[in-house]
Amino acid sequence: MQIRANYCWLVMHILLALGLPCFSQESIDYEDYFQKESLRFELFLVGNKTELKVVPGQVVQEPTWPGPRNHLVFPFAYGKNAVRVYDQATEKLIYSFGFDTLYSEYATTPPAAQGRLKTFPVSVRIPKPKSRFRIEFLARQKDNTWETIWSESLKPSDKNIRRESIDFGDAVFELQRTGEPSERLDVVFLAEGYAESEKEKFQSDAQRMTQYMFEHEPFRRHRSKFNVSAVFKASTESGVDEPDQRRYRNTILGASFNTLDIDRYLLTDQGHRLKEYAAQVAYDTVVVLVNSKRYGGGAICLDYCVSTVDDPRSEAVFLHEFAHSIAYLADEYIGSVTYSDIYPEGIEPVEPNITRELDPEKIKWKGLLAQGVPMPTPREYKDDRQDRRLLVGAYEGGGYLKTGMYRPSRNCAMGDGLDPFRFCRVCELAIEKVIQYYAPDIAQ
Ligand SMILES: [Zn+2]
Repeated sequence: MQIRANYCWLVMHILLALGLPCFSQESIDYEDYFQKESLRFELFLVGNKTELKVVPGQVVQEPTWPGPRNHLVFPFAYGKNAVRVYDQATEKLIYSFGFDTLYSEYATTPPAAQGRLKTFPVSVRIPKPKSRFRIEFLARQKDNTWETIWSESLKPSDKNIRRESIDFGDAVFELQRTGEPSERLDVVFLAEGYAESEKEKFQSDAQRMTQYMFEHEPFRRHRSKFNVSAVFKASTESGVDEPDQRRYRNTILGASFNTLDIDRYLLTDQGHRLKEYAAQVAYDTVVVLVNSKRYGGGAICLDYCVSTVDDPRSEAVFLHEFAHSIAYLADEYIGSVTYSDIYPEGIEPVEPNITRELDPEKIKWKGLLAQGVPMPTPREYKDDRQDRRLLVGAYEGGGYLKTGMYRPSRNCAMGDGLDPFRFCRVCELAIEKVIQYYAPDIAQ
């Protein structure tokens, strides 16, 4: 039995090293390895195109672990970065998770190529181990293999782990609660750029976004698998930074347009404060609502997303960014983004909704391909279906690239299909798999 178990772990390590999806052969019992709390590691990523350093900051204890307890090893190949936790005594991998950071986008920009170093504060949360453990921070290389950038061994009883209250006394609104956080996908909305007098506006904006989400598939049919809450912290000034307009506002998360010099790209550079703010409720994923009328938003996949609230398209932008953020979906449009090399040539992207593969036997969405569909699929292609969005093929153009990259459907909410808002079948399925990861089918 021991040999078989070791063999399984070996296979899993090979899969992990290759960046392939890994469905662990051996499940890890939460109670065997973890306590009820979680640990948040505040890290600083410092890098340019060719170098990346991780500098550790403080470690903060949070009172609960709201993440999944039965998929402790991340079952997806997603993320340009990953965290892995090993039980020190047995060297067993007991937790992993893949995610993106703004650093990996920055690394593809001209200033990074010229060698300019930039710092990105990133918080990584893990369930709190029972015994001495090693935490590793990994970065995916161009060929999709992993490199460990930083690792540290720690005792859970270490006196430097900060154990003070994480409650700042901010107003918390529960918008929907259907069950225990460890068995649900827990979404938290955070207020950004709302003045003290705009608390009610924030509450109604968060409600409006929640309602929009549950009006659209696949969220509508899985509504009972979500808990949704909102946290309000007042900003000194109302609005958001718009550097291209020379307009600046003193706000709680310092969110700003013109991220990486892209017009509509709206993110925060306060990665540590973001998670400190969110930790006042049990959450799996963070949505920052920015009090602005301007069109814009952004997402750091499997970390957080941002959307403004008062543009006529804000609800659609929110749901598009949210889908990036939870399901590691790529943009299906051909972009005007200035950075290059996001999807290196000749390398199959790990995102579930774009591919370089045209072989119907090998394409990642082969199970959903329309029968007899030509590959690549011409834009004008029709079969007898009423709704052409249900027709899955391989349409050229996606992931900001005009050629050599293919998307599953002619229109999708991850591409130009924001109005009416509808995901293609491939994106729907990818979202459902992630919902399933956080909230496995349980008797309702
Ligand atoms: Zn799609």
